[in-house]
Amino acid sequence: MTGSVSATLILPDRTAGGVLEWDGDRITAVRTTTAHTSKYIAPGFVDLHVHGGDGADFMDLSAEAYRTVCRCHARHGTTSLTPTSTVGTRDQYRRFLELCGELRDAVTGGARILGGHLYGPYFHPPAKGCHPNADFLTPQLEQDDELLAFAGRGLTTLTVAPETPGTERLVKAARDRGLLVTAGHTFATFPQMEEAVRWGVRHVDHLFCAMSDRARLRQQQAYPMRAGVMEATLYHDELTTEVIADGWHLSAELLKLAYKVKGPDRLALVSDAMRAVDLPDGEYWFGATGGGERVRRKGEVGVTLDATGLASGVMGMDHGVRTFHRLTGAPLHEVVRMASLTPARILGLDAEIGSLEVGKRADFVILDEALNVEQVYVGGVRIV
Ligand SMILES: [Zn+2]
Repeated sequence: MTGSVSATLILPDRTAGGVLEWDGDRITAVRTTTAHTSKYIAPGFVDLHVHGGDGADFMDLSAEAYRTVCRCHARHGTTSLTPTSTVGTRDQYRRFLELCGELRDAVTGGARILGGHLYGPYFHPPAKGCHPNADFLTPQLEQDDELLAFAGRGLTTLTVAPETPGTERLVKAARDRGLLVTAGHTFATFPQMEEAVRWGVRHVDHLFCAMSDRARLRQQQAYPMRAGVMEATLYHDELTTEVIADGWHLSAELLKLAYKVKGPDRLALVSDAMRAVDLPDGEYWFGATGGGERVRRKGEVGVTLDATGLASGVMGMDHGVRTFHRLTGAPLHEVVRMASLTPARILGLDAEIGSLEVGKRADFVILDEALNVEQVYVGGVRIV
């Protein structure tokens, strides 16, 4: 099937009036013109960090739950995502990776599944945040290899805490298998992060959240004051990172700091969304139904039941794009790049997805003037 649409194209380096054409699942032409229109064509968003939506969580571990989450996020402009696990049991991690493998590149009726983000087993337990208490694993040869065997068939991304003994071997083994290795839910020191970069850690989960910084490390040593994961992430050019740009996790100045220091090619927007996306305020399971942690949706964010802590996102990527644009004043093409081409490049998939370019997959979103999602195409097929 061929098609074409004209509106203001959001290209990686600018916006310009133009026409997008596709044939089957591929973009066949991107032409700029002088025509002015109030609507936009953006590349489909790529979400590196997403747990659930519309009542379902990837830890519910059924194909139907996966399709529900993918359809939900497609309504918010996401055309590709990496299902992200929460802390669970070893059996749950295995089943999670099996399902990610089975549904990878399958038709979900929504966003495409790129492969699983194994998130939880290797957290530093005191940095677990709102995650349930289940099987925190310390790196061990046999058990690690059992999980890493899913590389290339369901496993794409692995989160580690560099301060945990044995992590060097785990990171190197994961890199050998082609995985993206990220640091997250960690209280490592700056020198430990420096080591981790040498091992092959290349990305850091949700900057400013569930990580060490000068203030936290000072609780153990008054002076000299030391730097932690936050400072190491801002410092090291080898590290990309991501922000939850819902406007509730991070204030405008933290988003501006991340954008200024990392820049739009090293900073991705993520939803970090749980199952309460598109559902009313109330109590929900974060993670598996019946086995996760109870959290609350309160307006545009998830909070712990006692309302003293944050408990993941409840908004889609479109909200993140609008919010980041409004709070930082960054140019629209750069904000959209942080939601599409940058995360695609972080995953090593930028030759296939992430921008409106001839030969790439016809994954795109039509937005109105106020950047609300009007239509969504995955592989040239309209799904919203
Ligand atoms: Zn997290």
